[in-house]
Formats: sequence, C-alpha cells, structure tokens
Amino acid sequence: MRTTHDTTPLVLFGGTFDPVHRAHISAARSVSRVLGDAPVHLLPNAVPPHRPQPLAGGEQRLAMLELACADHPCLIPDDWELKQSGPSYSLLTLQHYREQIGNRPLVFMIGADSFASLHHWHRWQDYADLCHLAVVPRPDSPLATDKVLATFPETAPDSLMRHANGLRLMLQGPFLDVSATAIRQALAEKGDCPALEPAVVAHIHRHHLYNVAKSPSPESDTRPHER
Ligand code: ATP
Repeated sequence: MRTTHDTTPLVLFGGTFDPVHRAHISAARSVSRVLGDAPVHLLPNAVPPHRPQPLAGGEQRLAMLELACADHPCLIPDDWELKQSGPSYSLLTLQHYREQIGNRPLVFMIGADSFASLHHWHRWQDYADLCHLAVVPRPDSPLATDKVLATFPETAPDSLMRHANGLRLMLQGPFLDVSATAIRQALAEKGDCPALEPAVVAHIHRHHLYNVAKSPSPESDTRPHER
C-alpha cells in the first residue's frame, strides 16, 4: 500500500454492459460522489473470461453506454478493453491505467456478486499492488472469501484517497434488484424495460437488439426495487 499526495482517484468499472442499465449508472455515480466526484471509466469487455459471451457486439454496447452516460459528466465510456485482443482480463486493464496515472489512487469498482467470486479471477492477488476496490451492494450476493477480505482491508473514503492502492471501500447503496439477464428477457417478451434509460431502449429498437419484441406491452413493470 503506497501513500500519495495526488489524491484524485481514477475509478475503473468493467463489465459486459449487455445492455448498460440503471443499476450500473447509479452505482457508478455513487462511487464517483463518495470519492469527491472522481471520474469513472466504464469499460465494456471484448471477451469476458468468466461468463457467457455477450449477445450484443462491442460497438453496440459502447453506443448504449454513451447514451446512458450522456447526462453524467463524471461517467466516461472507455473502449480500451474492446480494442485489445484475447480475453479481457481486468488485470491487464489495471496495469495499463496504473502506468498512465503514476501514484494517483486507482479504484476498481465491482458489484458484490463479482466481489464474492474474485478469488476465481485471473491473478486476483496481484490487484492489491495496483488498485483499491470499491464494492457496491447487490441483493442476494454471497460474502467474499476471508482471504479476499484480508487482502483488501476495509477503509473510509478519505483514507482510501490518501493511498494509491491496496484498500477496500464498501458502499452502503444503491441497492437495486436489476440484472442485464432479466432485462434481456423483458425486452424479448415485452419490448421495454423501465430499468433502462429511454435513449437506450430507443437504440435497442432501432438496431433490433436482444430479439426485442415489436412494441412495449402496457402491463410491463420491471422497475428496479430499491431495498
Ligand atoms: P448479467 O445479468 O448479464 O450477468 P449484470 O447485470 O450482472 O449482467 P454486468 O455487465 O455483468 O451486469 O456487470 C458489470 C458490473 O456491474 C459487475 O461488477 C456487477 O457486479 C455490477 N452490477 C451489475 N448489476 C448490479 C446491481 N444491480 N447492483 C450492483 N452491482 C451491479
């Protein structure tokens, strides 16, 4: 863990974003706010190594991210992983950005479900030398392993910002029961989903993504439930 005088964090938020939804956006905004309006780069992966491959292509997922982030200056869609070849290991992205920003705090944000499986990720122990973690709660997520918890000691935002790497921030919210899997299903069945930004729904219809049903059905109500 290294101390730093340049306390402006850079936050990286990797994901499939197939498609980007309101829980992604509100989680990214929360992390940004807690860390003094820090910039958050949202990076769609090209070839996710830990899960089934995305339905929509990289360009489409990036285009939807650009629409969803348009009103939020702290949120920056980033095509770095899409431009790389081979599996999109987060480690490579973290190494790249660590080289770019010197000793500034680098923060890798993930949902609690991803955090719970971090011990299966490629060279996860090396992350602590490169970045902090910011963990966003997600309904019904199991706990991370003791080894993962011990590798990233929990801290508060001000302490995290005084260090370059190696600590963990646990956010208390938002707590949104939303998943892209459920959204893809709702789109195919009903043609709409309130957990998506309207501009993203319009893009999906325009490009006939996710086997979208022709028109939204009036009884569709898959609004995110905040707990
Ligand atoms: P899918 O249902 O296709 O698995 P997803 O909704 O989990 O998709 P991803 O793009 O796979 O979305 O997730 C990117 C990151 O966002 C991951 O770190 C994931 O844990 C986090 N995330 C996704 N949805 C939520 C949510 N509702 N609350 C908190 N974090 C979330």
